[in-house]
Amino acid sequence: MSNIGKFQDDCIFCKIIKGEIPSTKVYEDETVYAFRDINPQMPVHILVVPKFHIRSLAEVTEDNAGDVGKVLFAIKKIAEQEKLDKGFRVITNAGKEAGQTVDHLHFHILAGRQMGEGLV
Ligand code: 5GP
Ligand code: ZN
Repeated sequence: MSNIGKFQDDCIFCKIIKGEIPSTKVYEDETVYAFRDINPQMPVHILVVPKFHIRSLAEVTEDNAGDVGKVLFAIKKIAEQEKLDKGFRVITNAGKEAGQTVDHLHFHILAGRQMGEGLV
């Protein structure tokens, strides 16, 4: 897949994918990049992003839905790779009211200690 024209210049996560901002890589394939969150909220906190700029799940289209699906498949592979066999939680924020602070679609993988039933 060519990434030409798929990035947005002022986007932090596009810069991370391009290697312009350093990150701790966990997983990478043709469509997906995953790295450790800089401010972890759980013992395991990984961000999984598509290698093209899309603001959030609110912007999924017929054209990019297949690649967004590949991000979900990558999450399963990352959970195996990182041995998250006791369980993991996946969260994605879409929009300001949901708490989204970086406007490049990303899924948080959270794991490593017992979670409660709050949020969700
Ligand atoms: P949001 O609140 O948009 O769902 O999540 C954004 C996440 O990106 C936050 O958990 C924040 O800690 C993380 N983050 C923001 N900037 C950087 C960065 O430059 N590097 C890394 N590794 N994570 C970042
Ligand atoms: Zn981006």
